Amino acid sequence: MARSGTFSRRALLVGAGALCGYAAGRGWAPGLGQLDGVTRIGGTPEGRFLNDASELQATPIHSHTRPNAHGDALIEAFRAELRAAREESRPLCVSAARHSMGGQAIPRDGHAITVDNAWIEPDTASGTYRVNGGARWRDVIRALDPIGYSPAVMQSNHDFGVAATFSVGAHGWPVPYGPMGATVREVRMVLPSGDLVTASRTENTQLFQMAMGGYGLTGLIVDMVVDMVPNQRLSPAFETTAATDFPARFREVVDDPAIPMAYGRLNVTRETLFDEALLVTYAPTEDQSDIPPATESGWMSHAASYLYRGQVGREGMKDWRWWVETSLGPRFAGESTRNSLMNEPVVTLDDRDPTRVDILHEYFVPFDAFDGFLQACRDVIPDAFVEFLNVTLRFVDTDTDSYLPHSPGPTIAAVMSFTQELTARAEADHARMTRALIDRILEIGGRYYLPYRPHATQDQFTRAYPRAAELAAHKREIDPTLTLRNNLWDSYMAHL
Ligand SMILES: Cc1cc2nc3c(=O)[nH]c(=O)nc-3n(C[C@H](O)[C@H](O)[C@H](O)COP(=O)(O)OP(=O)(O)OC[C@H]3O[C@@H](n4cnc5c(N)ncnc54)[C@H](O)[C@@H]3O)c2cc1C
Repeated sequence: MARSGTFSRRALLVGAGALCGYAAGRGWAPGLGQLDGVTRIGGTPEGRFLNDASELQATPIHSHTRPNAHGDALIEAFRAELRAAREESRPLCVSAARHSMGGQAIPRDGHAITVDNAWIEPDTASGTYRVNGGARWRDVIRALDPIGYSPAVMQSNHDFGVAATFSVGAHGWPVPYGPMGATVREVRMVLPSGDLVTASRTENTQLFQMAMGGYGLTGLIVDMVVDMVPNQRLSPAFETTAATDFPARFREVVDDPAIPMAYGRLNVTRETLFDEALLVTYAPTEDQSDIPPATESGWMSHAASYLYRGQVGREGMKDWRWWVETSLGPRFAGESTRNSLMNEPVVTLDDRDPTRVDILHEYFVPFDAFDGFLQACRDVIPDAFVEFLNVTLRFVDTDTDSYLPHSPGPTIAAVMSFTQELTARAEADHARMTRALIDRILEIGGRYYLPYRPHATQDQFTRAYPRAAELAAHKREIDPTLTLRNNLWDSYMAHL
């Protein structure tokens, strides 16, 4: 096992194209053009549309507001918008960075609200901070870093909304945690009725469970109380194994209290797909004094993105990247801090190509089903028209709270990044491949992740999320006019 070096983690990223396993996306894009044949999807439709990071989801909306407020002012702004939407019998949905990829944050013909306002109040005595729903993770790091703290769990990339992360059941790569919601103590939200409630594991428990991973369909989150942990200096270690040996070794690492952060990778070359795994772990250094301020990605991460993009259409580059990541990179990797490791913007991996878009998938696989996952991917992915660029493996512990848990037991989360042409044929083929993959993952007891393209069939959705009907029934009780709606509701939950 190689350990440490003299350069920062950024040096590793040059070789690895590593980053945190997610590729860049864009928040706002023009509309949806024609969908026939190989015609490029895109263009600017007439009227008012909202899109998301998929660039494939241009959806007509009625209005779009951005309340620059927190606390009481945000509560009133939410209530006013709710009243207006109800009077017009229109849906309403609140979004943050809109990096969900299937309209999960967009109300069709409705009232769209975008929240982006940082207000963070740390409480070192309780090890928590109160944060308003629209704050982004970069704001949280900016507030906690100077006082020596760090988010307990955040999703990778710092551009996303804190309430959004809670609302999709998102996870990160600190171990041994469940989804970020597991580190949320309470939320305050405005219900569809306009009532303000505080919900936690001991107060309004059902509302808390409905809101966590519930895609904004329960209430509009005003603020939340979330766990923080001490920031640390960390040093990386790298280990290459046969892919099939990864789960056992990963479990050992996750169970090791000396390791606070860990992730894995698999090789993505078509011919040898998923033969090898890389395990990267971070352990505290002996010297924890004078922890330096959090940095963001520098020129090296941007350089890494060129190597990453070089893989498109070039199998040789995939091999080369794997060699750099497993052999060269570890020699140059050095210590970093917990906050610096998580303080990565998505823009670093922007594809700079107007004809393509990065689309993510994620599958949650029980440890003992990992071999089945490897085989499913080998059987399904290489023949697809989309180009497979990366997979990152994370640990997610059991989600004991939400109605739509992707990890009903401990899982290995496989975050997969594809790049596809912005054409109708690419979209159709991608949908076909996604459904094939979901079928295979469901067969082995795994689940797929809901914030990405809505390609799953209704049957696949209900098999993956057996409590969805229960959630839909509770939602109808608190929102009889179905005012809080988005494309997850329209495409799947409305039919339950
Ligand atoms: C580049 C990239 C990196 C990613 N990294 C990770 C990762 O590391 N781990 C992971 O698990 N997932 C990851 N994802 C998936 C990601 O977690 C979700 O897409 C997440 O929602 C993105 O945050 P956002 O601010 O863009 O949310 P949005 O897309 O704006 O919203 C997501 C959902 O949250 C709801 N919501 C937002 N704000 C509120 C509020 N105040 N009150 C109530 N509901 C609200 C919305 O209605 C919507 O249903 C990633 C996605 C991308 C594209």
